[in-house]
Amino acid sequence: ARLANQIAAGEVVERPASVVKELVENSLDAGATRIDIDIDKGGSRTIRIRDNGKGIVKDELGLALSRHATSKIASLDDLEAIVSLGFRGEALASISSVSRLTLTSRTQDQEEAWSAYAEGRDMDVQLKPAAHPVGTTLEVLDLFFNTPARRKFLRTEKTEFNHIDELLKRIALSRFDVAINLRHNGKLIRQYRASDTQVQKERRLAAVCGGPFLKHALAVELEHGDLKLSGWICNSHGARPQNDIQYCYVNGRMMKDKLINHAIRQAYESSLPSDLYAAYVLFIEVDPHQVDVNVHPAKHEVRFHQGRWVHDFIYQAIQSALQQSMA
Ligand code: ADP
Ligand code: MG
Repeated sequence: ARLANQIAAGEVVERPASVVKELVENSLDAGATRIDIDIDKGGSRTIRIRDNGKGIVKDELGLALSRHATSKIASLDDLEAIVSLGFRGEALASISSVSRLTLTSRTQDQEEAWSAYAEGRDMDVQLKPAAHPVGTTLEVLDLFFNTPARRKFLRTEKTEFNHIDELLKRIALSRFDVAINLRHNGKLIRQYRASDTQVQKERRLAAVCGGPFLKHALAVELEHGDLKLSGWICNSHGARPQNDIQYCYVNGRMMKDKLINHAIRQAYESSLPSDLYAAYVLFIEVDPHQVDVNVHPAKHEVRFHQGRWVHDFIYQAIQSALQQSMA
């Protein structure tokens, strides 16, 4: 089981940011409205994520760490089958197989919290009483301590932290309703407050994308049939920003999709002046029956059943918004 988990970990846990992604997604799944992320040394020493979600009952703490962890891997064929499952129910098992992981949690119905500890293995989970409000804290220490080859691939502290920061920007834009705080080496780096009103949302937008983006941002909102496009596009031109601001979400999930990118690019290219750079934060809502989301964790692509129609809708929405802003 340990081998299986470590192999799965190779797919799901590439670097500290991938750990943060899995853990924050778990917090969101648990209904958290506040998530605190503490990172030390770019995540190679500590990744600690605390949420105020529904928690995990004592009896299920061990299960959460070892779910799907069986010793059924005997051949390479088995291995492929397991890997192709994706990581449903495998993230914590994978992470705990390559770190020293402590899971502390309390549910509404429990008087006290409990901690489960696993170190580079998953069959031997220790439970201890702990102090913790309702919610969950995951502490991941010494990532890859037992897989030196992978630890060697970690980049500098700054680079790894930047990956975490970028990941949380993407998440911050997908969940304006959740407060997210990010610390590095004890210092508060980002504080995204829960935002509800348009003004609060724009404050978060500026926090993520920078003041200049907000200054040139144009709110868009358009609906056609069961297709909806909203968000902000930027009509600034001239100096490019240092980082590309190109965020696109389909039904709340961040996507890097060729069809969508193409539609957006075309809309910008057909607008004048032609030195406009495409900067946007866009949310596409579509009937879930009209899309296939590739379940592979590393892929961010969707397949629309009516691709042409979606393409033209996005193209026209953005082109006309850009034109109006120039008029
Ligand atoms: P998955 O998310 O695919 O179910 P994970 O390995 O990421 O698999 O998590 C295993 C299980 O642990 C989850 O299904 C959930 O029940 C529980 N869990 C993990 N993190 C949290 C959390 N922050 N709050 C509540 N439950 C959690
Ligand atoms: Mg998960």
